[in-house]
Amino acid sequence: MSLEIYVTANGFYKWSEFTVSRQFPEMAALMSLSELERWQIRQWVQMCGDPLRLAHPDNQVIIHSCKRSPELNAAVKGSKSSQHLNASAVDFEMLNKTPEYVFCWMMDHYIPYRQLICYPKHGFIHHGWNVPGKSYKRQSIIKGD
Ligand SMILES: [Zn+2]
Repeated sequence: MSLEIYVTANGFYKWSEFTVSRQFPEMAALMSLSELERWQIRQWVQMCGDPLRLAHPDNQVIIHSCKRSPELNAAVKGSKSSQHLNASAVDFEMLNKTPEYVFCWMMDHYIPYRQLICYPKHGFIHHGWNVPGKSYKRQSIIKGD
């Protein structure tokens, strides 16, 4: 298990999964991760990504978006203060599980978050976590539309 390729020794996530975009793959291909961004992504995998997979061995986690360059963030109409800009938020879904299920699982298992937003109709969860230099927050929302 190479930690050059995988984020942790569990091997559930590759670094390359955190610089993706379905809508704008050509913009995503231009992005790379700084040391600080890698550290933050490792935090996510340790506090959320790996525990989710360890508890659900048959359900892959599909990352829709983590890091966004300013160009990519503008293209997807992200907020100007988006946590995606410094790779401290992950949009993801879990195969064969509803976003509501994953949202409740995260709450039930005390997964830390700054902003946890469930988008049932769009089929994913936005999970931003608290990092130094960004105001502390703890907000969870299930979006109706
Ligand atoms: Zn997001």
